[in-house]
Amino acid sequence: MARFGMVIDTTRCVGCMDCVVACKTENQVPEGLCRDWITTEARGRFPDVRLEIRSERCNHCDHPPCVTCCPTGASHVEPFGNTVKVTPELCIGCKACLASCPYDARYIHPQGYADKCTFCLHRVKEGLDPACVAVCPTFCMHFGDFDDPQSEVSRLIASRRGHALLPEAGTGPRIVFLT
Ligand code: SF4
Ligand code: SF4
Ligand code: SF4
Repeated sequence: MARFGMVIDTTRCVGCMDCVVACKTENQVPEGLCRDWITTEARGRFPDVRLEIRSERCNHCDHPPCVTCCPTGASHVEPFGNTVKVTPELCIGCKACLASCPYDARYIHPQGYADKCTFCLHRVKEGLDPACVAVCPTFCMHFGDFDDPQSEVSRLIASRRGHALLPEAGTGPRIVFLT
């Protein structure tokens, strides 16, 4: 079974936000809400300091607290790619998952259910990349199977320096930012 994740080369990201616009369009994300967003952070120590620009979203964690805290089973791990998803029909909008996510990756949809990035599984099932990956003009985003040592994402992780966000939270985030 695949274990989908993303590798994003921050040295190539120009912060154009095409990924954010593509996601909102593809997934009809309501006005004022976002499934992905851009963060900037100064990293390193003087004189070796750089401004890291990151395209962030749900990390589809290996140990997702949003799933274990959900009282109804609406938040669950989808067998396809071991991704974290929400079943809107089962969600009671209690926001426990919003509170448990250390990445602030979720919001309540105006229709009352918790919502977030799905890795565009509807596209992936058709053999396409997630919308954000497909439109990135600098080709800095890569999507694939972390459990396949021959996949592009696995080879990038093995050959480049990178980091995930808040590893100390113990969630096992599955987005790696190359530096
Ligand atoms: Fe960065 Fe690519 Fe997103 Fe533009 S589309 S902000 S280059 S990740
Ligand atoms: Fe859950 Fe947040 Fe991890 Fe996504 S990033 S799987 S919403 S804990
Ligand atoms: Fe589960 Fe919905 Fe509550 Fe989140 S808001 S914990 S998905 S019932």
